[in-house]
Amino acid sequence: DHHIHIIGGGLAGSEAAWQLARAGFSVRLSEMRGSGEMTPAHQTDSLAELVCSNSFRSDDATKNAVGLLHQEMRDLDSLVMAQAHEARVPAGSALAVDRDIFSARVTQALSAHPGITIVRERVDTLPLSGPTIVATGPLTAAPLAETIGAATGMDALAFFDAIAPIVYRDSVDMSICWMQSRWDKVGPDGDGKDYINCPMDKAQYDAFVQGLLDGEKTEFKQWEKDTPYFEGCMPIEVMASRGTETLRHGPMKPVGLDNPRTGRWPYAVVQLRQDNALGTLWNMVGFQTKLKHGAQVELFRTIPGLERAEFARLGGLHRNTFIQSPKLLDPTLRLKSAPHIRFAGQMTGCEGYVESSAIGLLAARFAIAELTGRPLAPPPVTTAMGALLSHVTGGADAETFQPMNVNFGLFPPPEGKVRKNQRKEAYTARARTDFSEWIRAQGLLETA
Ligand code: FAD
Repeated sequence: DHHIHIIGGGLAGSEAAWQLARAGFSVRLSEMRGSGEMTPAHQTDSLAELVCSNSFRSDDATKNAVGLLHQEMRDLDSLVMAQAHEARVPAGSALAVDRDIFSARVTQALSAHPGITIVRERVDTLPLSGPTIVATGPLTAAPLAETIGAATGMDALAFFDAIAPIVYRDSVDMSICWMQSRWDKVGPDGDGKDYINCPMDKAQYDAFVQGLLDGEKTEFKQWEKDTPYFEGCMPIEVMASRGTETLRHGPMKPVGLDNPRTGRWPYAVVQLRQDNALGTLWNMVGFQTKLKHGAQVELFRTIPGLERAEFARLGGLHRNTFIQSPKLLDPTLRLKSAPHIRFAGQMTGCEGYVESSAIGLLAARFAIAELTGRPLAPPPVTTAMGALLSHVTGGADAETFQPMNVNFGLFPPPEGKVRKNQRKEAYTARARTDFSEWIRAQGLLETA
């Protein structure tokens, strides 16, 4: 009769509660909504409320990383996936839901389970003992956010700000771009060729700056306006509005970068920096933006070398609480400094409904394994769950760590020569095989 405390009844907390209860544990699920508290984005007291879009994105497990994640979650009897299926609405190859039906069904399933006690309360401190899963999400209430900040080192908790787009390395045209660090500077483990540089001439630069000024921006909600703003991550369109030359003296500075095709510095430059250990994802340095997603794709594809760029993530600006998981968490999502506490959901640095639920599912499975004394190896990094978990617990650079959707850039590239139009299937076929093998080897069939 193990007891476990889950804080936060959103996507991750609801999934974790379900997984633990069906394995015979008794769960206290603390959710502040319904006790007179609300977050700035939620509108109801229902568990697993979807705060924005009603889509779980692509349901195609053969061509899409998030579709693959859906399938892996179904293999492990995910409550979120089961109820999304029941609440689905027509959306082509995507899985979209009626949000009210979805949340009502999740709330009903958890309320009806004898192993789960739902307590409507705001939790302000981290429990000193007893197995705990913290899943309070990107809009964690301030007192708890401060406690977590104090427990993990103040700067470990980001009260967010802005993110820059991330590009797939294999979609960059290297016949136009080149690798070089500014002034060929050699870092601790570099060779003076750490950055990808995309050159611009004056006409291209002027048109680009105009495009930033004209592009459609996302409007701010009042609570977003109240969130503190870091000077270090000012949106590029705000910089552009300060004068035509501002970007050329900021993130688009060309000095010390010799274009091998001209032997000279370009007029302006866009730099990409490696974003993951695999080297498959590169972020656009200093390019945080609140341009609308469509406007970003259109404008950024005018950058020489990025004409065919595919984006693993687009830029954005919203409040977002997350911890520097790669530094703070062990591979089973435990807080290294207080291992009775696990983190789950978007706080760990994944992004999105499905990803948050998946990390909730894994946190619960790891807790079950630990409490029953049956060790559970993390899913292989070739699977969607494994790739996502590995990103949040180790694959990413802790200093530049940002929330991330699941995408094939987080997976090791398929071995051998694979034709470009068969790459997605190569990823998913390998993942399906490895995931089934992992389930079998870990003895999850009996309990799945
Ligand atoms: P949540 O689902 O937010 O759940 C956290 C829960 O914890 C909440 O119910 C909250 O009330 C509760 N809580 C917070 N603090 C406390 C406390 N101290 N004590 C008790 N309970 C507490 N993802 C998408 O896939 N599509 C989108 O369109 C999308 N739009 C978004 C828009 C905004 C404005 C934001 C902030 C996020 C958006 N996301 C979107 C991301 C998505 O919300 C999250 O990925 C997902 O909901 C996170 O799941 P979670 O379980 O980590 O957190």
